[in-house]
Amino acid sequence: MLIYLDGKFVPPEEAKVSVFDHGLLYGDGVFEGIRAYNGRVFKLTEHLDRLYESARSILLDIPLSWKEMEAAVLETVRRNGLRDAYIRLVVTRGAGDLGLDPRKCPQPSVIIIADKITLWPEELYTKGLKVKTVATRRNAVDTLNPRIKSLNYLNNILAKIEANLMGYPEVVMLNAQGYVVEGTGDNIFIVKKGRLITPPPYVGILEGITRATIMDLAREMGLSVSEDLFTTHDLYVAEECFLTGTAAEVIPVVEVDGRQVGQGVPGPVTVKLMQAFREYAQNNGTPL
Ligand code: PMP
Repeated sequence: MLIYLDGKFVPPEEAKVSVFDHGLLYGDGVFEGIRAYNGRVFKLTEHLDRLYESARSILLDIPLSWKEMEAAVLETVRRNGLRDAYIRLVVTRGAGDLGLDPRKCPQPSVIIIADKITLWPEELYTKGLKVKTVATRRNAVDTLNPRIKSLNYLNNILAKIEANLMGYPEVVMLNAQGYVVEGTGDNIFIVKKGRLITPPPYVGILEGITRATIMDLAREMGLSVSEDLFTTHDLYVAEECFLTGTAAEVIPVVEVDGRQVGQGVPGPVTVKLMQAFREYAQNNGTPL
């Protein structure tokens, strides 16, 4: 395996950053998780746009231009001889002193790792996932906006720890007002009266690339799609529910907090979108 680190391709043993990197000391940095399918990097433009927006929001000057970053991502996947891959792109604030001040970190680091993807068990797609809501509330938009895909993921990790303790593979988070926002690493959709509903960005979510793709595919199918606030009650009485994310793609949810969702099996809209997404992902993206 060869890892891109600040302009060089190095083996994993040599892919090291400083213990003074504020990415490590404070979670100060941004990242992306991207997939390649069948020799094409899926939604690379959208992922790079989100990365540069996250960086701009935290006043982090990425040392590569957008075009240079695109080339570096493609080259990393090529050098590793992968046609299907999970790509982790990280930009850390860089090494500074032990204080918080990012002005003390003159040189941000860019890391690109291209690896084989670890897929979720196929059974989850056929039978669906049982989830629970957790006590840990999603970060508020006026504290650390979830739209910034920052290296500070402790909020999500705290929810993941709750999931682990309860023995659930994924859980649903609410915001401080009690509205449903997202999973620890996935967005959420419900189907109500045949219409697709997903929480809006301002409620406190990461604007997922898979989420946007599903909204597009659903509209192309003639489905009504809206971004609306909803509560656990709406989840419990939904006809269908599913999660979306780069790693998971589309995962049907068949139970929430012990309430069966719909018929307790992946619903027809979910199955249609799951298939449409798989087909679309296999045939679209930036060629390697
Ligand atoms: N929400 C969170 C908190 C995430 O970490 C992710 C994964 N990046 C998502 C949603 C899904 O986003 P995407 O479809 O871009 O992978």
